[in-house]
Amino acid sequence: MRLRGQRALVTGGLRGIGRSVVETLAEGGADVAFTHRTSPGAEDWVAHLESLGVRALALPVDVTDRPAVKEGVGRLLDEWGGVEILVNNAGITRDGLVVRMKDEDWDAVQETNLGGTFRVTRAAARAMIKQKYGRVVNITSVVGEMGNAGQANYAASKAALIGFTKSLARELASRNVTVNAVAPGFVETDMTAALSDGQREELLRAIPLGRIGRPDEVARCVRFLVDPDMGYITGQVIHVNGGLYM
Ligand code: NAP
Repeated sequence: MRLRGQRALVTGGLRGIGRSVVETLAEGGADVAFTHRTSPGAEDWVAHLESLGVRALALPVDVTDRPAVKEGVGRLLDEWGGVEILVNNAGITRDGLVVRMKDEDWDAVQETNLGGTFRVTRAAARAMIKQKYGRVVNITSVVGEMGNAGQANYAASKAALIGFTKSLARELASRNVTVNAVAPGFVETDMTAALSDGQREELLRAIPLGRIGRPDEVARCVRFLVDPDMGYITGQVIHVNGGLYM
């Protein structure tokens, strides 16, 4: 319960890694607001989180929708009065080889993964600056460092997030706000469900620990970085990838 009294915002908190982050923060005692676009299930998720003894708030926000981001973060700040923890988790893939990639697939990935993180962070960071305390964690990806054939748009967005993380860490350090990135390898979620058996086998051969990761293994790393005691780690990229990239 070391996060008791802390207010957290997680983007994309109804599915996959974001869902696990939300639950882990709530189990740590934090009040948790989460964004979602696919409202079925949001009310049940709020009820489950409240049953853990924390406040929970579902914000129907598409991170590519500028007014919606402003309104959603504004609502959180109005209702809860501030935010200590921000986890930028919302992300998409639109895979394809560069020579065949459509402009809209390039743009959608940059707009969601990078633009969305920028906009949500800008809205929340103002409150952290005023509070002189904050923990920001951006979910990047191993492919942001390694590259991946067929994922140039996604890898570019995730590499850019690392530059964003380090720049923001420098901007906010004097306000006692740390900013770090977590780079998962391959994790069992809807995002990786489409991998073929062949792709899966090839991947497993490349992962020294010999298995795909679980969302809770990423969530625990996020939990570590947002701990009040972790005030001297900033501008870092922490890899959670089973050894796929060292
Ligand atoms: P997922 O199961 O496909 O979930 C994606 C999440 O992003 C959902 O919560 C979704 O919300 C949200 N989202 C997507 N577009 C959004 C938008 N425009 N506005 C608001 N929310 C949006 O994927 P995941 O595996 O949990 O991925 C979570 C993060 O981890 C992503 O940033 C991803 O790039 C990163 N990551 C994943 C892996 C992996 O192997 N799974 C590896 C490295 C990095 P809705 O429910 O509203 O659709």
